[in-house]
Amino acid sequence: MSNNSKVRVRFAPSPTGPLHIGGVRTALYNYLFARQRGGEFIFRIEDTDSTRFVPGAEAYIIESFRWLGITFDEGVGIGGSHGPYRQSERRDIYVRYVGQLLDAGRAYYAFDTPEELAARREHEANFQYDASTRMSMRNSLTLGLDEARRLIADGTPYVVRFLIEPGEDVHVSDLIRGDVCINSSVLDDKVLWKSADGLPTYHLANIVDDHLMEVTHVIRGEEWLPSSPLHVLLYRAFGWADTMPQFAHLPLLLKPDGKGKLSKRDGDRLGFPVFPLEWHDPTSGEVSSGYRERGYMPEAVVNFLALLGWNPGDDQEVLSMSDLIAKFDLTKCSKNGARFDYVKGFWFNREYLMRRSNEALAPDFVKVLAAAGIETTAARAATVVGLMRDKVITYDTKDGPRKRNISFVSDLWPLCRFFFVAPATFDRDDKFVRKNWTEATAAEMRLLRDKLATLTDFTSDAIKAAIDPWVAEQGLKPWNAWRVCLVGEGQGPDMYALAAFLGQEETLRRMDFAIAQLG
Ligand code: GLU
Repeated sequence: MSNNSKVRVRFAPSPTGPLHIGGVRTALYNYLFARQRGGEFIFRIEDTDSTRFVPGAEAYIIESFRWLGITFDEGVGIGGSHGPYRQSERRDIYVRYVGQLLDAGRAYYAFDTPEELAARREHEANFQYDASTRMSMRNSLTLGLDEARRLIADGTPYVVRFLIEPGEDVHVSDLIRGDVCINSSVLDDKVLWKSADGLPTYHLANIVDDHLMEVTHVIRGEEWLPSSPLHVLLYRAFGWADTMPQFAHLPLLLKPDGKGKLSKRDGDRLGFPVFPLEWHDPTSGEVSSGYRERGYMPEAVVNFLALLGWNPGDDQEVLSMSDLIAKFDLTKCSKNGARFDYVKGFWFNREYLMRRSNEALAPDFVKVLAAAGIETTAARAATVVGLMRDKVITYDTKDGPRKRNISFVSDLWPLCRFFFVAPATFDRDDKFVRKNWTEATAAEMRLLRDKLATLTDFTSDAIKAAIDPWVAEQGLKPWNAWRVCLVGEGQGPDMYALAAFLGQEETLRRMDFAIAQLG
């Protein structure tokens, strides 16, 4: 790569299902890097493995990035001067480049059937198709080129394999890991192309496209690190060594607890999504939850993911996309896996929730309420959000119940039922009710009720202005019992605010009902 070339990076998913959250982080890091350097970001679909193709996956991936605000400059659905960007539409290109390797003697035809290969593997432990075995196989090196051409002309199925010279130390220079070295003897003669479907394998298509699309940096997950020496050898075989991209292999995302990499099962077990959007599996019908549908804000997801494997080196954690673009440093990414702390994800969502106004959150709360069978206006929903957004909720974890701040709009509903639904019964065994409803309470509540009935202005301020001095004069402390009447238990917001929200008629009705029930 020449130093003055414009940065060009790509995200190149295979449409084999929903995009895993680790893939989202890979795309995000590419995006941050491209935007910081004033470079270009390409969206390529690697769909050469037709057996793993899943309908709907490509559209899902595109929609995920649209939701997250991660944008591309070129690619599938966008266009650009280096297309087509779907590998299945680039067959002719790959045929040409496979031909180039064959002509240069860097690749050869192989005719071994799957059965023959299986038999070899069965009889030889650790069988590998490489320099030590290739001269005992059925290929153009052993049969001769003329015979190989004849077989091909007869329609014999074949593959093209990469000829790897053994005994060479192959160095990969990685921006995160430094120099990674592997001896070529451990590599096998990888299949590059198959006549069966006329398609290349991942390795060939990936290298040819990165070259033709003038990719300068390959930023991808750690799981691709083992492929990179082979990729280096391919670049060299093509004569492209001096424009080879810089590699950067990102750290793995690890389970929130225990050892190993994050999996969908961890999400199911601990109750967090591992996909950006909800995914409906087209064959099994299984539904997997998504960050969007769970009520995460895209800015929170981006911020949370950005800090899994990298941090700006100071204490700042809440970072907007433009902060991230300014601060991101690929070379400061960690080599070690990043633990997927999903509870931190709650925290991030709360941070972004608190930055939004009640009115901005109201439409989502209206939806949550509608799902619970409650019709209300955005204005009333906004009032409730304002009264309850600072409360704490209890949630279940595998270690039992925990408390946390409201982190999602949906957290509000279990706390806010009484705003919309009057208590239908009272639990005399409830500690709060027992403590605050004594012999004298019904009479006191009747007094308060009659006083409230005289008010002509029922706003929170007006109720307070009338009731505070009256209570002092009467020597009453009616708050907890009043709360029992309106809420049914010992929680909820300021009583004046609640009464004002309910309105005079409903407030009096609830009080009459409680007095009748509790006596
Ligand atoms: N198609 C590969 C994937 O699904 C691309 C890997 C790479 O970025 O080279 O992740």
